[in-house]
Amino acid sequence: MGNDGWVFNIQRFSLHDGPGIRTTVFVKGCPLSCVWCHNPEGLVSTPQVRLTTNLCVHCGRCVAVCAPGGHAVDAEAHTLRLEDCTRCGACVTACPAGALEMVGRSMSVEDVLAVVRRDIPFYDTSGGGMTISGGEPLAQFDFTHALLTAAKAEGLRTAMESALLTPWERLQALAPLLDTWLVDLKHTDDARHRTLTGVPNTLILANLRRMIEAGWPLTVRIPWVPTLNAEPAFLDGLLSFLPAFPTPPPVEFMPYHRLGLSKWPALGGTSRIDAEIPAADRAEIEPWAACLREAGITVKIG
Ligand code: SF4
Ligand code: SF4
Repeated sequence: MGNDGWVFNIQRFSLHDGPGIRTTVFVKGCPLSCVWCHNPEGLVSTPQVRLTTNLCVHCGRCVAVCAPGGHAVDAEAHTLRLEDCTRCGACVTACPAGALEMVGRSMSVEDVLAVVRRDIPFYDTSGGGMTISGGEPLAQFDFTHALLTAAKAEGLRTAMESALLTPWERLQALAPLLDTWLVDLKHTDDARHRTLTGVPNTLILANLRRMIEAGWPLTVRIPWVPTLNAEPAFLDGLLSFLPAFPTPPPVEFMPYHRLGLSKWPALGGTSRIDAEIPAADRAEIEPWAACLREAGITVKIG
């Protein structure tokens, strides 16, 4: 498929993914599996069946066409069992109610830019542009590189949200193509990072260190999740790591919200986060922000 990529959403008029008004391109696939993940449609690199429960009229036509038994439907409920789904799309076609769809489609660089170009007047007046997010954009490195190259050739301002779990050479290849890096940092302690995301943080921190030392334009984005990474050891780690740089990067806290919980069953999955964990209260994050500001860090709470 050349430099085509798997994209699960293109969000226009985004105000939270870099400077100004932006169009955010969400690509599929991620090497992390954060306990609090609120974009489960970004985790795997392939298309997925998604059910909109309140549209389902329980007719059972999807059951009839699905050989692997991906749908269980009775008068009360519709449950997905998609472990053996072949992504044939038969259930989506058969559904008379529009309750099923395939999330994720293959798009060329030109397909994506055709959408991004629509809002150039807004980028120009706001300092905005295109952001690549996910999932993890580096999981589709060739597509991400090709898209950024083409965007830059057209004079668009670019940003990318990434967890940096990749060889340094790949980041170097993207550096000339990016005006803004949004670096997701989940925890500074390696053992806790493994527990919360499924992967170590050594490469992530090494990459981040090199980027800061090289003066790349970046913001450290921190998902702040009650009872998980919102713990003193993480704040201590941030206070040891960031202020040590002569020019530390700004930090943006991303308060945990519960909007992702309902996405999991719609994709036939189960969220790993305890459903009882409340959304983060900005007032709880303020003491963290105050500590970092006192240490000379610019802090925003998203
Ligand atoms: S896309 Fe998956 S769930 Fe739908 S009919 Fe094909 S195998 Fe079954
Ligand atoms: S075909 Fe559509 S409306 Fe009928 S049971 Fe399946 S999802 Fe529901």
